[in-house]
Amino acid sequence: SQQVHLASRPEGTPSADNFELVSVALPELKEGEILVQNTWISVDPYMRGRMIDRKSYIPPFQIGEVLEGGAIGEVVQSNNPDFPAGSKVSSMLGWRSHFVSDGNGLTLLPNTPLPEQTFLGIMGMPGMTAWTGLFRIAELKPTDTVFISAASGAVGSIACQIAKMHGCTVIGSVGSEEKAQYLLSLGVDATINYKEADNLSQALADAAPQGIDVYFENVGGEHLEAALNNMNDYGRIAVCGLISQYNATEPQPGPSNMAMLIIKKLKMQGFIVFDHWAHYSEYAQQMGQWIAEGKVKYEETVYQGIDQAAEAFIGLFEGKNKGKMLVKL
Ligand code: NDP
Repeated sequence: SQQVHLASRPEGTPSADNFELVSVALPELKEGEILVQNTWISVDPYMRGRMIDRKSYIPPFQIGEVLEGGAIGEVVQSNNPDFPAGSKVSSMLGWRSHFVSDGNGLTLLPNTPLPEQTFLGIMGMPGMTAWTGLFRIAELKPTDTVFISAASGAVGSIACQIAKMHGCTVIGSVGSEEKAQYLLSLGVDATINYKEADNLSQALADAAPQGIDVYFENVGGEHLEAALNNMNDYGRIAVCGLISQYNATEPQPGPSNMAMLIIKKLKMQGFIVFDHWAHYSEYAQQMGQWIAEGKVKYEETVYQGIDQAAEAFIGLFEGKNKGKMLVKL
């Protein structure tokens, strides 16, 4: 099996030398065990947090050990009737080409015409995150004006489309003109290229003169400050991620305008999607239907080969992806 190990802990933005591609021999299959060949692996921003040696909601990666993350694979040998050869499974055993398992922690993919890798994106964790943040955290209403940062990414692009379908006015911020065009093609009402904006707060005021009722926060820093300045009274902020700070080498200052929370009587709540997983089937049924009806589109950026996994991961922090960043093995 080829595996990607954490070679050293990144200081600041991760670089190729923080990762090492290693070949390891796999054990013989025992009774009840299966051999899985991974076909797709997911790279996700939260993995940057796991590269830091600290206590969090999920344990840190260890140096010299394989980096784990979401993956889809095919059972190629089976001594377990629950996972016959040929079946497709999702696991958290990514960043390796093959693995042996007793089935614990693996989920059989449902029988659907959707491509298997959608279970790492729109039909999986990122899609569920968009839906959870909008409905379960921000309590989205059709009359809301919604601002979404990292809006062309895996979570953001789904959040934009769900909010549009719900009847909302949607403003998305992105890091390039091409991504802005992509969002407009999805029906988003207005876009901001934050790399071009001299003053993000003013750019948001121009894009949403009516003010913001819901901010779906993926970025942090200046984006949060701009959102706070433009929120309407009783607005809600769902704090999903703070990607602009994940590579910071020192603690980042908070927004200078936190008083807006009081003045505007805002609610701000963070969330971790896994705490809401009991609602996944509700989400999957709804999203499956939207996709079948052609109401939602999804984009993927695909790197080829396990030796490209580190590049794909690093690319998340350089905005290399549109939609879900994936590695095809
Ligand atoms: P994306 O597909 O959105 O990829 C990351 C994107 O973030 C890049 O494409 C880039 O787009 C943007 N970005 C990178 N660096 C910066 C920066 N310094 N400032 C502004 N934008 C930046 O990733 P995901 O959809 O998987 O994740 C989006 C957010 O959601 C992340 O913060 C992630 O941690 C969070 N998340 C939280 C979960 C939870 O349970 N709370 C679950 C899943 C994700 P651009 O070119 O526009 O800059």
